Amino acid sequence: MAKIADNYLKVDPWKIIEEGFLPDHSRVSESIFSLGNEYMGVRGYFDEGYSGDQLIGSYFNGVWEERPIVHVGIYKGLSYRWAFMVNSVNWLLTKITLDGETLDLNKSEFTDFVRILNLKTGILTRSFTWNTQSGKKLKVSFERFVSMANHTIGCQKVSFEPLNFSGSIDIESGVDFSIVHEQQGNHCYWNIENQGQVNGFTAALGKTEKSGHQVLSAFRIETNTPIETELIKGQKQISLAFSLDLKKGEKSEFKKIVSNYAIKQAGVNSDKVWNDGLNAAQFHASSTYNDLLEKHIVFWNEVWKKLDITIEGDDENQQGIRFCIFQLHQTYHGQDPSNNVGAKGLTGEQYSGHTFWDSETYCLPFYMFNNPAAAKNLIEYRYKTLPQALEWAKEQDCKGSCFPMSTIDGTESCPVWWHGNLEIHINAAIAYAIWHYQKICGDIKFLYQEGIELLLQISRMFASRGNWSPTGGFGFYGVMGPDEFHTFVNNNAYTNVMAKFTFEYTLDVIQKMYLDDPQRIENLFNKLGIKQSELANWRVMADKMIIPVNKETGVFEQHEAYFLLPHLDIHSIPVTDFPLYDNWTLPRIYRYDMIKQPDVLLFMFFFSQQYDLATKKANYEYYEPRCIHESSLSPSVHSMLAAELGKEDEAFEFFKYATRLDLDNYNRNTREGLHTTSIAAAWMNIVYGYGGMRSDGDVLLFAPSIPATWKSFSFRLYYQEALLTVYVSKETVNFKTDGKAVRLMIYGSEYLIDGKGSEISVPELYFAK
Ligand code: BGC
Repeated sequence: MAKIADNYLKVDPWKIIEEGFLPDHSRVSESIFSLGNEYMGVRGYFDEGYSGDQLIGSYFNGVWEERPIVHVGIYKGLSYRWAFMVNSVNWLLTKITLDGETLDLNKSEFTDFVRILNLKTGILTRSFTWNTQSGKKLKVSFERFVSMANHTIGCQKVSFEPLNFSGSIDIESGVDFSIVHEQQGNHCYWNIENQGQVNGFTAALGKTEKSGHQVLSAFRIETNTPIETELIKGQKQISLAFSLDLKKGEKSEFKKIVSNYAIKQAGVNSDKVWNDGLNAAQFHASSTYNDLLEKHIVFWNEVWKKLDITIEGDDENQQGIRFCIFQLHQTYHGQDPSNNVGAKGLTGEQYSGHTFWDSETYCLPFYMFNNPAAAKNLIEYRYKTLPQALEWAKEQDCKGSCFPMSTIDGTESCPVWWHGNLEIHINAAIAYAIWHYQKICGDIKFLYQEGIELLLQISRMFASRGNWSPTGGFGFYGVMGPDEFHTFVNNNAYTNVMAKFTFEYTLDVIQKMYLDDPQRIENLFNKLGIKQSELANWRVMADKMIIPVNKETGVFEQHEAYFLLPHLDIHSIPVTDFPLYDNWTLPRIYRYDMIKQPDVLLFMFFFSQQYDLATKKANYEYYEPRCIHESSLSPSVHSMLAAELGKEDEAFEFFKYATRLDLDNYNRNTREGLHTTSIAAAWMNIVYGYGGMRSDGDVLLFAPSIPATWKSFSFRLYYQEALLTVYVSKETVNFKTDGKAVRLMIYGSEYLIDGKGSEISVPELYFAK
């Protein structure tokens, strides 16, 4: 592994702590200290403004703007429209002035800076002592939360404690729609439709220039003693100015309760949004700050009761894994079926808020085993966007449905054609997700209604996109597999294995439906015009699928002629060259056997029980030294396989890399936003990696092992309506449910696990060395 940690945060099992502000890490910290609640997200930028390097980032899930994608020349089948999650309102806007000096940590003198994200409660705090030019010392503290209990609400508290004076301080607090979207031309995409004061709320209604999405941001200020406020209306912001009296040694504070009401569609009348938004504010934001805070804390408490992972003996990774769970849960928990998980969640502009195959491949297991309704929503999102996928397939000269590699609204928004047009494996990820979800959550109704239609359309697409080779094999030519360092390749092993699986699974489901519900499948065939001859073709295509493999070594060839590529020693790459895309040209990256992320290894993990250990070992040992993990999705897969192969040191290195990817900024790009989808893979790393779980058979398998430095670890998951707790120590493992009995295979033997629990000795093979 060529990457190294960039540690600057303090280790604590429940908190992320930054002591002393590092301006050159300002954007990294903003990403790490992001807060969200699926509906909206806000980066950890400074409330009071900052003239140094920063990204004021405030996003709403599904609120997007669009711009044209400009290509040189007009070619058929390229994506010409870029829909992106647009940077929205800065609802934390605060200006603090003392003796004419405005607080700005880029210019002001300050000491004792501490910023803490409490993962247990979902509260972000920051404090420091401001030493003003006039010689005053003022302790300033900020607190904020984005309510999990009430998704439209965000709250902020600002406190002042004068250490050597008494006097007054001037505040301006408001909401601001003038912030720019940096990655799309540094442009502000918002116009103000209305602003003013109604029933104690000060509000502004913004509307995007082109897409016509709207956000109403309304706030009220709470103080202990009455204050006089002056209304200030700017072109794109509205605020209240007021003063607070300060007494030496005593705390004064103000609280701001904000209600954000988002409309994620075009054509809604702005007067209606203004009225509805203010009614919503009245309804949700009239409770006190403390009441809202309490509900928020209770919500997180409940979450941790079900989702916590404990690691005894390793605070660094304990902190890392809780951070992952926290960020994933606040990004998505199935609150709204039209939402999905963006690759950067709601924490930055990189990847434009887009959803990738990451949702099905890496996020789905977390939800299947914690929140099946959310898992279903993720797949339903694809069903809802099937019309766009049918259109896109036509554009691609294909039949059936072609799902986008990168999207926010179901249309392909990837500006880079060799990703958007060639990564057809996204379609197989959806088929795999349907299969996996059905296996674990047993939702036959979904399979026979939406699932089968998706499978049929995806199989149709694969059949029309594939070709017959002169030697009689079927395969895919001119594609890009998951490894994005090789483009326009032929017969990518992953794509072919997954397409074969898609055909076979679709045919299986059809057969089952003929037995269970013949009328439904006949109706569907009539609706889609599917003939038996089409199905027969899929069977032949699956049987004749080309899967390149070296029969002697058992190593699958990532794509045709991959074995002939020049070798590059990835350890010779200086760490300062990462991220590679910023420092190397594409032809320099693409011409070696160096890979970005697992490709062959991924299908071995997906269908774990189809490959024996010797084959997994041969492939792991071949591909691991060639992989630079430039995709954050990569280390977890390596860690899980390394754990299975008994490669303890490697498993642990990759586990740490995956689990602390953002906290330690391993890929040097956390500044752009968190790697939210790979955070999900870090969860898999515990459950599938050290828990040794495999979910691709008819029964769940477990074979827990424990890293040498840990005393114990535990995790929980929902399975067949039981909440299962797994506790692993050096010599024994304990499995227990909250009541209902479930059948599991543990270290190769079958157990019926129930509320009484079972203690099982760890076989010697799994002892930590
Ligand atoms: C990876 C893709 C992934 C995307 C979003 C890219 O760097 O190569 O596999 O879908 O990031 O996470």
